[in-house]
Amino acid sequence: MNILITGGAGFLGSHLSERLLKDGHFVLCLDNFSTGFKQNIEPLISRPNFKFLEHDISKPLTIERELHWIFHLASLASPKHYLKNPIKTLKSGLLGTYNCLGIAKAKNAKFFLSSTSEVYGDPQVHPQPEDYWGNVNPIGVRGCYDESKRGAEAITYAYMRQHNVNIRVVRIFNTYGPNMHPDDGRVISNFIVQALRNQDLTVCGDGSQTRSFCYAGDLIEGIIAAMSSDCSLPINLGNPKEVSMNHLAKLILKLTGSKSKIKYIDLPEDDPKKRQPDTNRAKKILNWYPQVSLEQGLIKTITYFKKII
Ligand code: NAD
Ligand code: UDP
Repeated sequence: MNILITGGAGFLGSHLSERLLKDGHFVLCLDNFSTGFKQNIEPLISRPNFKFLEHDISKPLTIERELHWIFHLASLASPKHYLKNPIKTLKSGLLGTYNCLGIAKAKNAKFFLSSTSEVYGDPQVHPQPEDYWGNVNPIGVRGCYDESKRGAEAITYAYMRQHNVNIRVVRIFNTYGPNMHPDDGRVISNFIVQALRNQDLTVCGDGSQTRSFCYAGDLIEGIIAAMSSDCSLPINLGNPKEVSMNHLAKLILKLTGSKSKIKYIDLPEDDPKKRQPDTNRAKKILNWYPQVSLEQGLIKTITYFKKII
């Protein structure tokens, strides 16, 4: 197949590109390098089935080539970046999704939206099933990201209903692994880089807030399974094992053998207190369940960061 991946130079996009190339597909990787990491795609550039296109997906685009699948991953994804660039974030989520759906309609291609657990906001239902509508502050500082993805879901379902575009929507929960940018700003890359540099680990608030972390390799298999399935309902993908940020910081200190200390800093505004995916739909429909434990995944990620920083 010919496959377009927007955000293909990012953390997840580069893993997805590599996985699809391995299966023999042609990958057209699009990115504007706003947070992408050039070195993620360096090993792919010389591959005959890989082509890179530098473009901002919030601007319209014409593609000559026939396309079979489109994965729309382009977005500012880390709070550090989207809080600084709220308008760009909304544009990638809303205009970018609209542009991709236009291409999907014109090419009769299957469309994949990388949505997020942030559509549930600071959840009042725990763990979060797909039929929970969420608790999002639309005018809060995180609204630019949360509402860009909620709007992206709405426009995706509108294209399915009105234009019969074949769609898949996955709500990704916190995922980590090799190919994350050292300045990405999300918690696992921050803690590992700080631990390896013998700097204090910056735990926000009192560190009791929780997240559930999925290893990238597991997530990519889930994405492929979702795209290959017949299910057009949203599907949560993530690892349900939930940990506090205090626990995570101590585990990373143990695994890196670092002498760093923990430093408590302000909790960002509207930071969700807890998050855990209900993965029953993924289990039932895709027969998917994460295989890599947090400790195993962190060891692989620490090895990666030791090489690049
Ligand atoms: P990332 O920042 O590493 O990758 C995103 C990529 O999109 C970057 O390469 C960036 O340069 C590119 N991009 C941003 N705006 C663009 C634009 N307007 N035009 C073209 N390219 C643009 O982040 P990631 O973790 O790989 O995230 C990929 C997708 O998965 C995002 O849509 C994100 O919202 C979603 N997601 C990720 C997680 C996670 O934990 N990793 C969780 C939930 C959702
Ligand atoms: N966090 C932290 N220290 C950091 C970065 C983040 O304690 O250096 C916390 C953050 O406040 C949140 C959790 O870690 O409670 C996950 O944050 P991240 O930015 O990775 O993603 P989020 O799940 O909030 O989108």
